[in-house]
Amino acid sequence: MMRSLILALNLLAPPTAVAILSTGHPVIALAALLTAHAPLLYATLMPNCRWLGPLLRDFPTDKNEVWLTIDDGPDPDDSPRFLDLLDRFGAKATFFVIGDKAARHPELVREIAARGHGIGNHTQTHPARRFWRLGPGRLREEISRCQKTLGSLTRRPTLFRAPAGMRNPFVHPILRHEQLTLVAWTARGYDGTDTDRQKVLARLLKNLRPGAILVLHESTPIAPRLLESLLSELDRRGYACVLPR
Ligand SMILES: [Zn+2]
Repeated sequence: MMRSLILALNLLAPPTAVAILSTGHPVIALAALLTAHAPLLYATLMPNCRWLGPLLRDFPTDKNEVWLTIDDGPDPDDSPRFLDLLDRFGAKATFFVIGDKAARHPELVREIAARGHGIGNHTQTHPARRFWRLGPGRLREEISRCQKTLGSLTRRPTLFRAPAGMRNPFVHPILRHEQLTLVAWTARGYDGTDTDRQKVLARLLKNLRPGAILVLHESTPIAPRLLESLLSELDRRGYACVLPR
């Protein structure tokens, strides 16, 4: 409903602006155009916005449980260390992996699955800066190729995370077709850009509550030590890391 409204606004805006322009009011025409496009831009760039389609930003539970999600692997240095840390703390996580990396390290993908963790689709090539402005053809390629890659290594994922969390109105129909659920998050630490482990940890734990979805990344300078600190702190506060049913 909201998605249709946003799309209709964007389709009607240009002819409306042209009509206003023809009456000699360029400032009003520009204002009308920007006002009509603003909701689309907002919904595209805000990872937790539901206007374009359904997504998960937490999960239902009455226990002290969180869902740990780990993006951007598999990584030959980090994945084995992550798996050992998760085992040490009795924690389960979902790894949102990149198709190209998975194809380069199939043994890591199989190991992640064998140790009882979830595997999600994080696109074939992870075009982080461009994903939100790709057209339907390129988007389908990114999402469906990753499904095929992962399907051939373990089983076809049912969960998807958009690179940097941003996605445009073309994404949701493709996810529906591939039977994928979009997973956003409750908290992220910005560990992809910030190397201050304590600050990242504080962001992840700021609003800790049952059912929270937490995101961290492989292939960052602080990756294994961050995961160890996070798992220790969650353990200290009595939280378990589970895969929601
Ligand atoms: Zn990513």
